[in-house]
Amino acid sequence: MRSLFLCFASLVVAAVQVASISTYDYVVIGGGTAGITIASRLTENKDVTVAVIEAGFNAEGLPEVFIPGFIGMGIAFTTLDWSYATIPQANLNGRTLTVNAGKALGGSTIINSMIFSRAEKEQYDAWGQLNNDNTWTWSALLPFFKKSELFTPPNVFQVANGVNYLPSVHGFNQSEGRVKVGFPNFFFEQSALWRKAAEFLGFAASPDLADGNPHAVGVAPNSIDAANNTRCSAACAYYTPFADRENLVVITNATVSRILWANSSAQGKLVASGVEFILTSSNETQTVGVSKEVVVSAGTIGSPKVLELSGVGNSTILKTAGVTPVLDLPTVGENFADHVHSWANSFTNITLTKDALLLNTAFAAEQKALWFQNRTGLYSALPRSLGIAAPSDVFTPSQLGSLIAQAEANLTHFATEFSNGNPALARGIAAQHSIALALYKENKELPLEMNLEPGYSGPTSFAARPARNYTTINSVLYAPLSRGRTHIVSSNPLTPPAVDPAYWAHPLDVAAQVGGIKLARRMLVAPPLNSIYNGEFEPGADKSTDGEIEDWLRGVVASDNHEVGSCSMMPQALGGVVDTQLRVYGTMNVRVADASIIPFPVSSHLSSTVYMIGERAADIIQGGKA
Ligand SMILES: Cc1cc2nc3c(=O)[nH]c(=O)nc-3n(C[C@H](O)[C@H](O)[C@H](O)COP(=O)(O)OP(=O)(O)OC[C@H]3O[C@@H](n4cnc5c(N)ncnc54)[C@H](O)[C@@H]3O)c2cc1C
Repeated sequence: MRSLFLCFASLVVAAVQVASISTYDYVVIGGGTAGITIASRLTENKDVTVAVIEAGFNAEGLPEVFIPGFIGMGIAFTTLDWSYATIPQANLNGRTLTVNAGKALGGSTIINSMIFSRAEKEQYDAWGQLNNDNTWTWSALLPFFKKSELFTPPNVFQVANGVNYLPSVHGFNQSEGRVKVGFPNFFFEQSALWRKAAEFLGFAASPDLADGNPHAVGVAPNSIDAANNTRCSAACAYYTPFADRENLVVITNATVSRILWANSSAQGKLVASGVEFILTSSNETQTVGVSKEVVVSAGTIGSPKVLELSGVGNSTILKTAGVTPVLDLPTVGENFADHVHSWANSFTNITLTKDALLLNTAFAAEQKALWFQNRTGLYSALPRSLGIAAPSDVFTPSQLGSLIAQAEANLTHFATEFSNGNPALARGIAAQHSIALALYKENKELPLEMNLEPGYSGPTSFAARPARNYTTINSVLYAPLSRGRTHIVSSNPLTPPAVDPAYWAHPLDVAAQVGGIKLARRMLVAPPLNSIYNGEFEPGADKSTDGEIEDWLRGVVASDNHEVGSCSMMPQALGGVVDTQLRVYGTMNVRVADASIIPFPVSSHLSSTVYMIGERAADIIQGGKA
């Protein structure tokens, strides 16, 4: 394989030469979670050539990437992060929030937290329901989830620390499985106390948080190589082992500026003939030709941007940005949804927390040495025990009844508001809300993820908070009804888009997030977690009513970096951008495959679902024979 890491100046010239003269069967835009999955699977066939064009570089060798406990350190959240800024959020005191997304080969799996859970079966079934296509349902997709992973069962130590698993839902195929999935070598004592507290409050103990029934509490699987306790990103899983393939070219440090279209179109549809990109090192524009298909896998914010820069999208928005429209597909960039992060934390009398790593540099150095010696210690720990809450855990029956009744009464109003003036999308969002509310009634739409952080997590900086040990319950809005959008504002490919997640635009989202703080508070003082409780820090005793909690949250909630939906897989009559073969409506040979196609948000961290989408996309492209 010709691996072209353009961070090395000597190879830039080679890359330019290869890139400028070459035509490939497939060009994949974005070497992230889905993109590198697809490229890797397609090039298993030696007769197929694939070029991947990735804006970032190969960062697999950085400690902040491969050491689990180094999440967020070094350049993880700077150079390796697009750090997309939202527009001021009307419902969050006009704040501008950051949506993080990985900018490297492997995409967001280079900087994510490695939690490898899956969502509720019925939520995947909703994708099939919206598309009237039963190949996009949990039971049809489970083989693709399993195909993507190579699962290492927990060892005796991990089982003793509360890990459960169901062999039937995991992938064990040594030759086929790619993402190494396992469990860490260190568990904080308070995680077990918290799981017991959740059970005390009525959560069932989960047999496996990837089994499609996550309304429970348990230890989530992680995307790590259990053999050496290192991150297994998309690059580790789908690229590095196959780096010598002659038929796969990866061009890094190259930002795609647009898809090039052939002059002639078949059946009145657009035909992609190549892809144009800009080399970071020289700012030079290059092109590669494509003989079969372009696959856009630039992520939920990157993919609509590439389509819009290529003239595919809402013509009015494109013209305002200075791009000449070639295909009016007005819902590109719409239907955007994201999970929303919040916290409740307390002081604790337990002495071993993650705070110790910040408070005591000698201790942190010892722990680092331990990791290098034998892959143990605090830096071998990973997030985390999770509990996925159902409506019954969050609301009283009468509260829930009234919230659902209000949402039903206002369904058309919100669907229209969120659709940005597009009647088809208004129908699509109405259909999504109808499904979500029906699932709410069945206690199946899971509005919150709760998880324990054995240390401080929250909105206050290290310098500004008391230098003490903390226990945090993260509470994440998981089934948002709010829908926003992301659109280009300029024809310059290097200008960031305007991202408007429209956080908290639906009253049920606000009520669920407030309920999450109340549930987190109940957890902090439930036995046996109450044995380490030493008083609440945030939100704090002065925020006791729902209104006070809500006001505090408006000033602090953050993106959970789980953005979806901006190139939705839905019928065109419902405002979709791609069909169930992931083909962009109105094009012959352009597909989108990444988190942006998810039409209906799911209550889980997303990477396992995006790998599944990548596997499914490769299978579709190969004609279903993979
Ligand atoms: C900080 C953080 C923590 C997370 N934690 C978890 C977790 O613990 N567990 C979990 O399951 N999920 C987690 N997620 C979410 C999950 O990792 C992502 O949803 C998923 O990886 C997205 O996959 P994707 O293929 O859609 O996009 P990505 O993996 O982001 O890939 C998109 C790729 O396209 C490239 N790109 C974009 N624009 C261009 C362009 N114009 N030209 C060339 N290349 C381009 C990007 O650089 C990137 O490599 C987290 C995400 C973040 C950011």
